[in-house]
Amino acid sequence: MTVAETAARMGRTILVVEDEPTLRETLAEALADDGFHVIAAADGRAALTRFRADRPDLVLLDVMLPELSGIEVCRIIRAESPVPIVMLTARGAEVDRVVGLELGADDYVTKPFSLRELTARIRGIFRRNERQATTAAPQVVEIGRVEADLAGHRLLRDGEPVALKPKAFELLAFLIRNPGQVFTRAQLLDQVWGYEYAGETRTVDVHVHWLRNEIEADPAKPVFIQTVRGVGYVFRREG
Ligand code: CA
Repeated sequence: MTVAETAARMGRTILVVEDEPTLRETLAEALADDGFHVIAAADGRAALTRFRADRPDLVLLDVMLPELSGIEVCRIIRAESPVPIVMLTARGAEVDRVVGLELGADDYVTKPFSLRELTARIRGIFRRNERQATTAAPQVVEIGRVEADLAGHRLLRDGEPVALKPKAFELLAFLIRNPGQVFTRAQLLDQVWGYEYAGETRTVDVHVHWLRNEIEADPAKPVFIQTVRGVGYVFRREG
């Protein structure tokens, strides 16, 4: 890590929520070594108390927690704040992942995971947030009966905001900025979620499904976000 990178991470606080003491300490140490300021909580209620008191810049949240589950904590925090949330899920707990993403978690990591992978994901989230903050230009794009407000990160129908998960909007914004270009699911994961490997491509399908329900006249016969069989997806501006 360069001096500049360390400096960039200084002042960033990560709340680690994990009931298993050894893992909690390991995570806290790895993130502190990476230059982050770390606070920790051992159960769901304590997590909410710390979150409200210290307003961390990112929450690393285990799903299986005493008092309140990670899913509940995610739901409550998301209702209060757009803070990035990374969920830690057990292997094979597909339901936890889908529910976590639906509740607005930004990313999830499956146990067991490597610390290197985890810190890379976290850095990726901060990098993308910075990029969005610096490159946002006022722009509204018409897609059939809806309008994508790229600067405001929202979808409008008849002038009213449409409820949409943040990642779903990011995916749409990426596709809008690259019309006519065919992307594989792995490429979309990399561009929108920042995964550094080609895994969990179902995540892309779930988000495309949500988007089609909002923007397509007939989600079963999509004209804007089209499936390219055997390859991935393409966005057609004209539909
Ligand atoms: Ca746990």
